[in-house]
Amino acid sequence: MHEINICWFKKDLRVVDNEALYNASKDYDVLPLYILEKEKWQQLSHSYRQWQFCKECIIDLREDLYLMGQPLIIRIGDVIDIFEEIKNTYKIKGIYSHQETGDFLSYKRDQKVRRWSRENNIPWEEYIQFGVFRGTLKRDKWAKTYKKHFEKEIINITKVFKALPFKGENLPSDNFFDFKNDKCHGRCIGGRKEAIKRLNYFLNNEIYSYGKNISSPAKSYFSCSRLSPYITMGCISLKEILKHTKSVKTKDSKMFTSRLFWHCHFIQKLETQPELEFKEYHPYFENIRIKNDYFLEAWSEGKTGYPFLDACMRSLNHNGWINFRMRAMLMSFASYNLWIPWQESGLKLAQKFIDYEPGIHWNQCQMQSGTTSINTNRIYNPIKQGKDHDPKGTFIKKWVPELKDISQDLIHEPWLINNIDIYNSQTMNYIKPIIDLKLTSRNARKLLFQISLKKEYWNISKRIYEKHGSRKPTNKRKTKKIINNSTNKQFELDLNL
Ligand SMILES: Cc1cc2nc3c(=O)[nH]c(=O)nc-3n(C[C@H](O)[C@H](O)[C@H](O)COP(=O)(O)OP(=O)(O)OC[C@H]3O[C@@H](n4cnc5c(N)ncnc54)[C@H](O)[C@@H]3O)c2cc1C
Repeated sequence: MHEINICWFKKDLRVVDNEALYNASKDYDVLPLYILEKEKWQQLSHSYRQWQFCKECIIDLREDLYLMGQPLIIRIGDVIDIFEEIKNTYKIKGIYSHQETGDFLSYKRDQKVRRWSRENNIPWEEYIQFGVFRGTLKRDKWAKTYKKHFEKEIINITKVFKALPFKGENLPSDNFFDFKNDKCHGRCIGGRKEAIKRLNYFLNNEIYSYGKNISSPAKSYFSCSRLSPYITMGCISLKEILKHTKSVKTKDSKMFTSRLFWHCHFIQKLETQPELEFKEYHPYFENIRIKNDYFLEAWSEGKTGYPFLDACMRSLNHNGWINFRMRAMLMSFASYNLWIPWQESGLKLAQKFIDYEPGIHWNQCQMQSGTTSINTNRIYNPIKQGKDHDPKGTFIKKWVPELKDISQDLIHEPWLINNIDIYNSQTMNYIKPIIDLKLTSRNARKLLFQISLKKEYWNISKRIYEKHGSRKPTNKRKTKKIINNSTNKQFELDLNL
């Protein structure tokens, strides 16, 4: 039997700096394999827009591998069934892949693959692609280990591969997954070539305005890297991004690289505790919110009656991307003002994000909902955010054209128009606010505070910090305060109502 290694591509759709591919090709012929798992794509967190993006990444990788002599083999189905089929054709010497910290389903699937590889005596080698580590790594040592990983050289593979005659499949048609029609006309195009273009453009032009524009939804569209979907799919490695960013000498590059660090910091939390995808960090916050389909839909469609918030949501619906601050504001509104479960609003957001990354996403959803107990709670006020980051209301008018006739000074609060006839005619096609912002913010704050007074609350919180808290000096001070001062530090809110 022909002896081969399998390089199992997951969310590492690139040839450059691919440690799994490099090691798989060292001593045997390589079968580069991508397995399309229907079960994964049928989860509620996944969407048509993400699949379109992923498909473009796969096609791009297939071309790159083809140029190296062996095109990507695409198969649809269950991972174990496909490995069994390959085992009947070749003698598999090893399976090589990157270590994935994905969702609960991929975690369970990897456990199955681990068992199968042991039972069949086929070694499965997993390589680290982010600064995320398995096993018993102590939180205190994490930053050091992270740094060491990213000091490694970038791997370039120049080898020519031998084409292996193993039958692949075509990519399925668009209706294969029964996705809801979701065109996302403004989304970025997938694939490594696009990732490199975006990185070069960002480092040569936009990084200089990164810090200045990071909070504005309109300006950040240009000044943020918007590399997140490419990082999620692994079209480009973090090591590559860090290396190229080093050549740019501006204070903004430091700010940018600290975000790349956060990327791994958040994923590490899910690696340490996979249930965080569904379960609150702090048990006292379980089931405190109330399901409300009307609120959920109104929020998801950008029809809450708060102009800036609605503009942000509609922009996200169109582009599949929005900046960090606005993501936080959208989530905060759903969790504090609409008081709906973060698991439900989080799923809606996950579907919309081309860059959906479970480790970052679910941690951020919890942080912006006040369920971690180790972060300062922040209730964003969409009116204030609008005035700060869209003072002239241009962004609002672009995405909420129903308000195009309203003057600049009233665009953030159209209900302040004191002439009832003008108000009615200028907001005729726009919904009235679905909740009272001040009241709901106060209620949320009060409730979270009451929960913090419960017996054992802070002891549990301390244990959560020991497991997950950031060890950076500034945060350490902040978190220490939260833990030691049980009165109100957690309830220091960004209200400004
Ligand atoms: C509720 C909520 C959900 C989120 N869900 C996701 C998600 O599913 N996938 C995702 O990649 N990011 C998520 N983020 C984090 C952040 O908003 C995005 O990473 C960022 O907006 C991506 O844009 P960018 O590539 O231009 O980032 P840049 O500002 O250019 O930063 C570069 C990279 O650093 C990382 N990064 C930046 N900000 C953060 C952050 N706050 N936390 C962790 N990593 C960060 C990302 O990998 C990003 O691509 C979420 C934030 C919130 C508040």
